[in-house]
Amino acid sequence: MNGQDDLEVLNPATEEVIATVPAAGRRDVDAAVRRAAAAQTAWAALAPGERARLLRRFAVVVGEHVEELARTELREAGHTLGNARWEAGNVRDLLDYAAGGVERLTGRQIPVPGGVDVTFLEPLGVVGVIVPWNFPMPVAAWGFAPALAAGNAVVVKPAETTPLTALRLAELALEAGLPEHLLQVLPGRGDVAGEALVRHPGVAKIVFTGSARVGKRVMALCSDQVKRVTLELGGKSPNIVFADADLEAAAAAAPMAFLDNAGQDCCARTRILVQRGVHDRFLELLEPAVESVRVGDPADEGTQMGPLISRAQLERVRSYTDGAGPAIRGKAPEGPGFWFPPTVLTGVAPDAPAVREEIFGPVAVVLPFEDEADAVRLANDTEYGLSGSLWTRDVGRALRVSRAVRAGNLSVNSHSSVRYWTPFGGFAGSGIGRELGPDALAAFTETKNVFISTEGSAP
Ligand code: NAD
Repeated sequence: MNGQDDLEVLNPATEEVIATVPAAGRRDVDAAVRRAAAAQTAWAALAPGERARLLRRFAVVVGEHVEELARTELREAGHTLGNARWEAGNVRDLLDYAAGGVERLTGRQIPVPGGVDVTFLEPLGVVGVIVPWNFPMPVAAWGFAPALAAGNAVVVKPAETTPLTALRLAELALEAGLPEHLLQVLPGRGDVAGEALVRHPGVAKIVFTGSARVGKRVMALCSDQVKRVTLELGGKSPNIVFADADLEAAAAAAPMAFLDNAGQDCCARTRILVQRGVHDRFLELLEPAVESVRVGDPADEGTQMGPLISRAQLERVRSYTDGAGPAIRGKAPEGPGFWFPPTVLTGVAPDAPAVREEIFGPVAVVLPFEDEADAVRLANDTEYGLSGSLWTRDVGRALRVSRAVRAGNLSVNSHSSVRYWTPFGGFAGSGIGRELGPDALAAFTETKNVFISTEGSAP
């Protein structure tokens, strides 16, 4: 293990140590990449139907372990039971969906003079998937499922605090019959194992999900080897409420749009922009909706919000609200665990850190706007561009504003961002590339063009 420290996994709801996991060092990464390269050659040579069959079987095995995976996620990440079950089910569904693509990964036949021209979508080789702690299971699968389906091998580097579900998924892959070393999980420190994966010449692509700070470093390191990279970084997404909206529905939906996963969600709608004429009425409706969110033991079926991931995250979130004078504040348990109450700030200056920076906790700001142009200006007044919602009864406005907001994932009269059928990713500082959706497999291939002369033997 190259003398690296073990990783301690804490239950964030109780602060108890639930597991200790050996941390991989640079030599472990090197060995894993070499094993992956050998496994990939054999995997790519399998008939597409066989690869699809194995991935479908992997989906079935994950499906049989949804409850176990969900309970592990609950304990290591503090996710509510409902969320954790959804997340494990998302891995199952994504594997199934990706398996459907294996036999449909077709190239093209392009009309050219003098011959036949065809393209092939070749696998990249070994793909490194670097995962954050906020959605340990789905984010790992968004990388590994399409990458495997496209004929690659995968090495996953989970976050230091949440390695357990990823490790279990790799075991389930073997149980399902996937070849050894095709999907490997290497827990370890980001600056050691993560960086070794990024720097490794045997890794053809890095899929990184995490902070903008680390994402920029990953991209710089990838550029040395012209390595392919997908970045899914942070967000500061707007929730735009127009005066013509169904205000009751908008106010009822707004809390969980920034409180889901205790706000540790890159798509969290943390800037609630409300048209001035309905601003006060909206706040009257929002207050009881926020206060009634059930925060507590993630294992209780009725809990809507659990703890933050760590003490460090708790202190970070608190730094944004200390002295800010919150307008609305919900309840959170006392005692052990990294708890922070649902919080809505009003009257905050547009350039305040709480408005501009991703807090990654259960905190939103409400800002008034005047008209449609002002709403778009405010929505786009951010370095990020991941998600956003708008609430209106005017279909024309819904389309105009959706087109004008610079973000990768928008929803109208809804807060949905992530569906495995549809592309997901960010504009601007929120990242590069897209995951999920019908083109997910193509992102793990290189297009090869082959021209075959029909003119007889060339001189
Ligand atoms: P982070 O950037 O600190 O860590 C993410 C991963 O990168 C971890 O596995 C970490 O060990 C690894 N890492 C750290 N330093 C590294 C290095 N030098 N080289 C290679 N890998 C390294 O982020 P985090 O705190 O774990 O996650 C929170 C962030 O992730 C938030 O900013 C959030 O918005 C973002 N996020 C984005 C999406 C999205 O899809 N856009 C989804 C989830 C989370």
